[in-house]
Amino acid sequence: MNALRYIDSHCHLDLFDNMNKFLDDTKNYKNSIITMTTTPRAYQKNRELCSRYSHVFVALGLHPQLIAEREKELDILFKYIEEAKFIGEIGIDQGPRYYKTIDAQIRIFNDIIDKCDWYGNKIISIHSLRSADIILEILRSNVRNKSNKFIMHWFTGDIKTLQDAIKLGCFFSINSQMINSDRGKKIVSILPKEKILVESDAPFVIKFESGKEHNQYMNETVRLINEIRKEDISQQISLNGIELLSQ
Ligand SMILES: [Zn+2]
Repeated sequence: MNALRYIDSHCHLDLFDNMNKFLDDTKNYKNSIITMTTTPRAYQKNRELCSRYSHVFVALGLHPQLIAEREKELDILFKYIEEAKFIGEIGIDQGPRYYKTIDAQIRIFNDIIDKCDWYGNKIISIHSLRSADIILEILRSNVRNKSNKFIMHWFTGDIKTLQDAIKLGCFFSINSQMINSDRGKKIVSILPKEKILVESDAPFVIKFESGKEHNQYMNETVRLINEIRKEDISQQISLNGIELLSQ
């Protein structure tokens, strides 16, 4: 049987020890990778570093946990937002360490979503730790442009909020650690199969030494999703990623 092609929808390649060696190795497999940036300055650099890899897509981001130190790079983000098809990692984090920047986080997330809505055709990966309800409220009130696609990365909200996100048409990128928790399993069992994507969130959730390990991880994560759902949706997950990239 031919191996399916999956899209790693949320990865941090620039935090790998040896990004280029890893990427050369992943060329031997069919999978693609959407790589996040956590600062707008990193986007400029990553765009150049990844330009020779047709299976890698660089997202423009400003991580909510870095707002305190990196807010001044917002100008760079807005300089590139028109050209960037992929946006992330952006979002809101209400964990105790980041609560002090919550006002700035909400304002910045609002502004980025607003601009994405203006330009359209963006694929946006969203961090929503303890903030899924605020994120959805912002999406509900700001989003008019139907061409944008929102991916909830490692969603950990409650089931009511999950249903709101599904109603809004969000995608969900699932990683292996998420599947380990009871809530994660519940979420995976409820999601419409057309909205499921796979992510590694490497090197945070897992570290890869080779393209082979990455490929195994993608396939194993899909297998675990199938196991939870008691149905084989491998083809569908592959298709979800391919369609997302081809829009
Ligand atoms: Zn991440």
